[in-house]
Amino acid sequence: MITLEGIVLKERAFGEQDKFIDILTKDRGLIELSVRGARKINGKSSASTQLFAYSRFCIDQKKNRFLLNSVEPIHIFYGLRNSLSAISLASYFADILKYSTAELTDSGNVLRLFLNTLFYLENGNRSEQLLKPIFELRLMSEIGFMPDILICRGCGCYEPKISYFSLKNGGFYCSECKDANELDSSYFTIGLPVLTAVRHIVLADFDRLYNFRLSEKSTKVLSEFSEQYTLSHLGRNFNTLDFYKNLSLKTVE
Ligand SMILES: [Zn+2]
Repeated sequence: MITLEGIVLKERAFGEQDKFIDILTKDRGLIELSVRGARKINGKSSASTQLFAYSRFCIDQKKNRFLLNSVEPIHIFYGLRNSLSAISLASYFADILKYSTAELTDSGNVLRLFLNTLFYLENGNRSEQLLKPIFELRLMSEIGFMPDILICRGCGCYEPKISYFSLKNGGFYCSECKDANELDSSYFTIGLPVLTAVRHIVLADFDRLYNFRLSEKSTKVLSEFSEQYTLSHLGRNFNTLDFYKNLSLKTVE
């Protein structure tokens, strides 16, 4: 029997009473767990195995299959259900995690990032506009796709007023070096406040990660940059992201 702490990223009904759940764990990455009698067991176990439940799972392992033996809830994130946009954003985060962490074994930082982001999403202490790029860019960095944002690749300057970031080669040039280095059409123009925010997100310690301010205008640029960087590196789109974005468009109207 093994005990693992993890959070449920997806549930799938199976047969009359069973279900499979995908959980992101601290020490074993992503695992699929089969839950027998999920739809008839008592309320506590069923709450502890639902979407976004963070729980302590006792598991029987049979070869590569994992069967749930018993479970204790740690934090269920009920509050997410009070806001359609919060739960939609959380579903997009869960989708990216499922797609990008399948091969990851040392997943402690990624789990911590997800849990901390969900706490802020649940209690509303940070705006969704900021939580989304923080989660995306930090996740990309933790799984080996950190953008190269330290210095201009041409002259090495550290704080250019405007940077031209190439999504393809993952680095930036300042205004002076931009023309000498042919940029493909996928480059992104970002001002110094946004460059500084990106540096903070990918390099800050976890306890300082969510503590920075950015103007509304710069937050929009950061958000757009972060999304394009993430999707272009993962090489795909996510329906949950489209759903979330349509939702925010409707709210603005
Ligand atoms: Zn330069």
